[in-house]
Amino acid sequence: MRETGSYKRLLLKISGEALAGEKKFGIDPKALEETAGIIASIHQEGYELGVVFGGGNLFRGRELMPLELDRVPRDHIGMLSTLINGVALQNKLTQKGIKTKALSAIDCPKVMESFTNDLAEEALSQGKVALFVGGTGNPYFTTDTAAALRASEIRADCLMKATKVDGVYTKDPLKYKDAERYEEISYRDMLNEKLEIMDATSVALLRTNQIPLFVFSMELLKKMKIQQILSDKRLGTLVKGD
Ligand code: UDP
Repeated sequence: MRETGSYKRLLLKISGEALAGEKKFGIDPKALEETAGIIASIHQEGYELGVVFGGGNLFRGRELMPLELDRVPRDHIGMLSTLINGVALQNKLTQKGIKTKALSAIDCPKVMESFTNDLAEEALSQGKVALFVGGTGNPYFTTDTAAALRASEIRADCLMKATKVDGVYTKDPLKYKDAERYEEISYRDMLNEKLEIMDATSVALLRTNQIPLFVFSMELLKKMKIQQILSDKRLGTLVKGD
């Protein structure tokens, strides 16, 4: 397994809420600009970069319960939300002169190509940012699992999960003041301790395929390079090993 400093190919997972801005819903112009700027600068650092977006700024299946729809259509709405985010981000990146390839897990040929591993590999080897949307294409999953799946498929050196908290904690740091952050933890311990930074399906997939996971704060990306973030153990949690 490579040292964090020598990572070349990254899969970045960004939750939809990064695009929501202060209104906490929809796509905020400033947040969109900022997120596209972050992706552009990671690409300019020289990494081969795949990005999986969430859709939580628009619709999450579980939050649509009041509509009294069944689970499958609720999750379809959630997955389609990630396509909307992808369309917006792809265009912003294009406007910035960044070459991209958007690939969807849900066939939507008038909008973008469908995901295949070959197309993803081709795009990454051509130096394009690969945008993976549509989640896994299946209900009952999350975009975290989609990120673990795509990271495994493209054989990423690391899955970088940019989130609200700056790492994996012994307990929820937003609720408990005495929560302590791990600098490093194994997948086994993360599962055993039921640390809920990612759902168990995504953790199991990463563990089986031995893809390291780095959990860090999205806020850091606004002021620091990925290279710096990865080389400083105080800036997140590295999950790896068995
Ligand atoms: N979703 C799904 N299958 C997938 C990925 C996502 O059904 O493979 C649906 C699910 O309803 C989820 C929504 O899409 O709530 C948006 O994804 P997620 O909640 O992971 O977005 P995030 O919280 O990362 O913004």
